[in-house]
Amino acid sequence: MSFIQVQNLKKNFGKVFALNGVSINLEAGEQYAIQGSSGSGKSTLLYLLGGLDRPSEGSIEIDGRDLSKLNDEEMAKFRNSEVGFVFQFHFLLPSMNCMDNILLPAKIGGVSQGNLKSEVENLAERLKVSHCLKKYPFELSGGEQQRVNIIRALSLKPKILLCDEPTGNLDSENSMNVAQILKALALDFGSTLLVVTHDNIVAKEFANQLFMKDGLMQMPPPALP
Ligand code: ADP
Ligand code: MG
Repeated sequence: MSFIQVQNLKKNFGKVFALNGVSINLEAGEQYAIQGSSGSGKSTLLYLLGGLDRPSEGSIEIDGRDLSKLNDEEMAKFRNSEVGFVFQFHFLLPSMNCMDNILLPAKIGGVSQGNLKSEVENLAERLKVSHCLKKYPFELSGGEQQRVNIIRALSLKPKILLCDEPTGNLDSENSMNVAQILKALALDFGSTLLVVTHDNIVAKEFANQLFMKDGLMQMPPPALP
């Protein structure tokens, strides 16, 4: 049985159908790039997989659990403890330094911070942002902010790491850097990785290529030039 099983997933906002019946199986620990033109439903799919929103129709099973059976409180717990999110723009809180930002999900989830601080320091060293931990987000460059953001997303070793245009705001050098960091860390943490990107070079970093069009997953994916 696949780790993530999506069946006939539909989502409409009034008359607009963002997802038109997506069915796909995703395997544990695998890495997927999702491409597709603007408006094809990529973000909507990620939000539903991460429990940030609920489908209009269809089902999502993750690790044998049907997300539709979770109440709002259980869903919040699922998001906090099992899903990491990385968006195009960081959502670091401006009033906290970076270390406190990174530790926030653990604090919210009531998770013991035991070794967490030293794990964060190790990750920061690996991602070359040790010098940023005591700084505030606005004092960092875009590339540094995104790396701190990634550390926060991974702080609780999520089973699923969902990234929506994580390099959309970065130059090509920083984009490749962030793509390689996501790839390596997801592998180390055993997280299943989904990266939405419009950047074909970034997408090719990941083993599996998915394409969306008009709210559907294109199967099989078109051959690349
Ligand atoms: P993508 O990420 O591929 O650009 P989205 O998933 O953001 O696409 O959006 C798919 C479609 O759903 C678009 O037509 C978009 O305008 C619409 N949509 C997405 N979110 C909302 C929302 N909260 N309210 C209304 N329409 C939405
Ligand atoms: Mg989007």
